[in-house]
Amino acid sequence: MHMADLRIVDHSKDRYHSLAISSVWELAKIRKARVLVVGAGALGNEVCKNLAMMGVKQIVVLDRDTVEVANLSRSVFFREKDHGRAKTEAIAERLQELNPDVEILKLTGDLDSALGLGLIRRMDIVFSCLDSRLARRSVNRMCGKMSKPWVDGAMEDLLGEVAVYVPGRGPCYECTLSQAEKTRIAEAASCRGIALRNLSLGKVPTTPTMGSIVAAIQVQEGIKILNGKPVNSLAGKRLVINCNINDFYVTASERNEECEGHEQFDTVAEVSEFTSSGTSARQVLERFKRESGEDGFVELGREVVIEFRCPGCGGAEVLGEPIRKVDEARQCCPQCGTTRELETTHVVTNKDSWSEWPLSRLGIPKLDVIEVRGAQSVAWYELSGDGVELGFELRPVVQPEVPRDVLPSVQDDAQSKHLEALPVQKSA
Ligand SMILES: [Zn+2]
Ligand SMILES: [Zn+2]
Repeated sequence: MHMADLRIVDHSKDRYHSLAISSVWELAKIRKARVLVVGAGALGNEVCKNLAMMGVKQIVVLDRDTVEVANLSRSVFFREKDHGRAKTEAIAERLQELNPDVEILKLTGDLDSALGLGLIRRMDIVFSCLDSRLARRSVNRMCGKMSKPWVDGAMEDLLGEVAVYVPGRGPCYECTLSQAEKTRIAEAASCRGIALRNLSLGKVPTTPTMGSIVAAIQVQEGIKILNGKPVNSLAGKRLVINCNINDFYVTASERNEECEGHEQFDTVAEVSEFTSSGTSARQVLERFKRESGEDGFVELGREVVIEFRCPGCGGAEVLGEPIRKVDEARQCCPQCGTTRELETTHVVTNKDSWSEWPLSRLGIPKLDVIEVRGAQSVAWYELSGDGVELGFELRPVVQPEVPRDVLPSVQDDAQSKHLEALPVQKSA
């Protein structure tokens, strides 16, 4: 720049000035972006920090845990006095201080019970800041169904990874997993996983420096997708960051057409009369029958324990809770101590007694999208009545804009393996 080009203009009052003059970002696109950050741990803190400083329109932050003093070594937004407070509460308060322009929405709970697909549907991009493969698989499936791109981050000691997944284009998270990794996820998701659940909690060594590095790349890559310029992004690829020896490299996997993670919902009907706590599967099925003429079934998208039966004393208890919420202690018969048998289901027909239960009792979160299948047709109904409580007005949602030309261009690296970041989810 020549000296003559310099203008003395006071930009000290413009928070976004340095972003506005960058040729890399389109500020207007960033300023209207709605983003979901899943996990408010070390990575979630850093991802939220960057997003808030860049001035996105809305950050929805989801976490189930409370702050512990042990988090302070790598979580910029937590303080000693926050010990015992919900992570979402603490982070929302500090983010608001950091940038009052950004709307913050807190979701306290786990992925399966607090995060409705309708919320993902209203987001532009999702950042996964999780520490388990099982939870990543959940994010993969949810983002896949709603056709939302997502950016995954992982770290362990001085190793890190960032991957970007664009549903329908290139590999999904599950396409990149080895058979052994898939088996471990399936185990963690099963009944047997109940007992294992807490074993590996907090076992992954992490550092604040790696948190900063991984999260910064996550946000940078996410912004490329938001900008609609995915050409040089990590879409469909994975960056491996080995800070032990300062080796950074990109790998890509093939899309596996047989993969189970590719379910994509089509047009979602927003139904303002439907809510998770006020609507039953039967009501949803009635609507489906009116519209399609068919008797369909609700696909819950999760395994739900309908009943406990005791082989010892013959006692039975009607339940209605996602299997992942049922721990070993509950499986034990309160009458005689025998391990009880579970009756589970993932579908509801109008013949089932539980079709009259509110959907929330079957583990359906607020603002979820309910899939109904018949012999000839399929429909997706959003529980849009929950949106008001979460601060969303009803509005026609534009169908997903999937960026073009994002297929991976780097050779498959079969030798690269995922970080051993917690094989089992923290409890469900
Ligand atoms: Zn896949
Ligand atoms: Zn018993």
